[in-house]
Amino acid sequence: MSQRILLSPPHLSGREAANVLEALESNWVAPLGPQVDAFEREMAAELGVQEAVAVSSGTAAIHLGLTLLGVRPGDEVWCSTLTFAASANPIRYLGAEPVFLDSMEGGWGMDPELLEQALEEAGHCGRLPRAVVVVDLYGDCADYDRILPVCARWGVPVLEDAAEALGAGIRGRCAGGFGALGVLSFNGNKMLTTSGGGMLLCGSAGEAARARYLAAQARMPAPHYEHMEVGYNYRMSNLLAAVGRAQLGVLWERVAARRRVRGWYERGLSGVPGLRFFKGLAGHESSCWMTCVLVDPETCGVTREDLRSALEEADIESRPCWKPLHLQQSFAGCRVFGGGRAEACFERGLCLPSGSALGESEVERVCSVVREVVEGGGKWK
Ligand SMILES: *Cc1c(COP(=O)(O)O)cnc(C)c1O
Repeated sequence: MSQRILLSPPHLSGREAANVLEALESNWVAPLGPQVDAFEREMAAELGVQEAVAVSSGTAAIHLGLTLLGVRPGDEVWCSTLTFAASANPIRYLGAEPVFLDSMEGGWGMDPELLEQALEEAGHCGRLPRAVVVVDLYGDCADYDRILPVCARWGVPVLEDAAEALGAGIRGRCAGGFGALGVLSFNGNKMLTTSGGGMLLCGSAGEAARARYLAAQARMPAPHYEHMEVGYNYRMSNLLAAVGRAQLGVLWERVAARRRVRGWYERGLSGVPGLRFFKGLAGHESSCWMTCVLVDPETCGVTREDLRSALEEADIESRPCWKPLHLQQSFAGCRVFGGGRAEACFERGLCLPSGSALGESEVERVCSVVREVVEGGGKWK
């Protein structure tokens, strides 16, 4: 009897319960409190960013971030097309128009060349986007060496969606700190979890103060309840911040574990015809949040879907790569630059179990099913 192998389950450190108990005993009535403040301080220090604002989800952080960048109804906001819908939904919450950009050659991230051409065109027509949402997909930072100068040339701020990339970096700088603002998620399947939560990373105390104010119903300092703007109820609760602090204590262990998992897959699947992994750009340190394999059906003899259904039969959870947002009904009619590379990733890409608690024998079980299906021309057992 072997247990079902999940894609990316939560992985507790063992210290969460004690932290929550302490928060309960000291301060259980207040939604905000010392745990939130400490979680924010500790995360900012760990990542080397000025400020971190703890909120109820990564999506809320994106919504606040775009609000801080001044996105208004009718504005365009550009966004990677190969990503989770949460990267772009807040664009619509603000009444702005999402425009999608394809991935680069040999990676998940936004294509810097395409972005440069598109900004050039938009700049000359006087139709620049208010912001660009750049996503660090599956634990790989986008190509910021090329993306940031291009955006700076046109004065367009980058919101970095690092929800999937906590622990990744480029030459020692941490994911989440590359854009004008950065976003983290602590959803149950992410590198760290608070069961649900997120953070907005800011470069200045002023931005962080404005984010905290908007996230707390935009209440003005007055004895009564005074509001000059519409706010949100987006702050993280003190109890969940207590969970987050326990998780943060094991961040680098978790990253190391996922990197080990990646290594086992690369070894276990090497030599299987038609399977490949993206290599990652020079100087980039992937967090390996998710290991995805690309299946070329011509050389492999089987499709991504053949592999996925055989793995499911073997009680192993896997999932196709993100369906590009320009193909989603919810974004029908939105403009898209390119899109073919992202579509190929969706057709050929398969996310394999990547949790930080996986053992080598479990990864070997996944690899042996994959090898058997390929050798059997699509059949397993
Ligand atoms: C998970 C995720 C989000 C949203 O985070 P939540 O905390 O679930 O709201 C945003 N963008 C990407 C790319 C994600 O994977």
